[in-house]
Amino acid sequence: MTESRNELHEFHWIMDMLQTIEVGLVVLDSGFGIQLWNGFMENHSGLSATRLQGRSLFEVFPDIPEGWLRRKVETALTLNMRTFSTWEQRPHPFPFRNARPITGTEPYMYQNITFSPLTSASGAVDHVCLVVYDVTDSATARLRMERANARLQQQSQSDGLTGLLNRGAWESLLASEFERFRRYGSIGTLLMLDIDHFKPINDTWGHQVGDDVIRAVSAMISERLRQTDIAGRYGGEEFVVILPETDIGGGEILGERLRQSISTMEVTTEAGIVQCTISLGVAQVSSTMADHHQWLSQVDKALYAAKDNGRNQIALAQNPHPVSH
Ligand code: GH3
Ligand code: MG
Ligand code: MG
Repeated sequence: MTESRNELHEFHWIMDMLQTIEVGLVVLDSGFGIQLWNGFMENHSGLSATRLQGRSLFEVFPDIPEGWLRRKVETALTLNMRTFSTWEQRPHPFPFRNARPITGTEPYMYQNITFSPLTSASGAVDHVCLVVYDVTDSATARLRMERANARLQQQSQSDGLTGLLNRGAWESLLASEFERFRRYGSIGTLLMLDIDHFKPINDTWGHQVGDDVIRAVSAMISERLRQTDIAGRYGGEEFVVILPETDIGGGEILGERLRQSISTMEVTTEAGIVQCTISLGVAQVSSTMADHHQWLSQVDKALYAAKDNGRNQIALAQNPHPVSH
């Protein structure tokens, strides 16, 4: 009598613990009917165990990926073996809101789930127990770190003032584009441009205003480009653009349009409206070039010819053998 009363106590305690434990417990029969739904699952789903008793999990949660869950459950039942699902594979199998104030930036609870086969009194393996762990804290920490790393990676390639590619990142792209042009005989054109008389802008109105002008010029460059064009900040007020699949004539048209847009652009700064002009060089890739440095040196020469000729203009590289197709 005492023995069985103790057993009864134990049974109640165990039931109490299952109800209040901070992990989700679900028992499914082989037809995916819900046989047990503990307090954790009730609290996070807002659905009581009595309402769910015997109902199909897929009917209650139509968004749970059915094929995936069937495979997990059937593996557990047929092989009589535990299987797992991690948040990296399936972030939120149960669509529960993230209830944690500290990690409130993530809208849903990240979950790891264990699927354990259960053996009934008759010895048949015909139920499966899902243990649902809330891993939002560690998942959020991991994701936050990954996002920070991605941002750092991005920052190390882009220029802080303009957001364009920095010189190093741009030049390594130029080297690989040059290889591509050489290997496949495709065409490509390089633009290099420099703000005219920029030093007086800095000297008259200050560095801050100079920065505003650099930003405005880079924004105009980005606005005028195609998706496939590759722009970089080459130096202080000097910019470069790779134009794939473009010959020198196309580069000249684009450069001329850019020159005109910038010459009429009004930059609003703390010193009032500031205007500027640019000079540009254009050079098409050529079979005579041994490497991308020669391409750069040609476009640089063209730019300085434009400066020498009086600025606010475009000059084409004097290339004796442009690639023709
Ligand atoms: P030119 O028409 O021959 O190009 O004359 P310039 O005055 O533009 O040429 P120069 O290369 O002598 O002047 C560039 C100046 O740009 C010098 C430098 O102080 C300034 N500069 C370089 N980087 C920055 C920057 O990030 N911000 C600002 N505000 N100025 C910069
Ligand atoms: Mg300049
Ligand atoms: Mg310069």
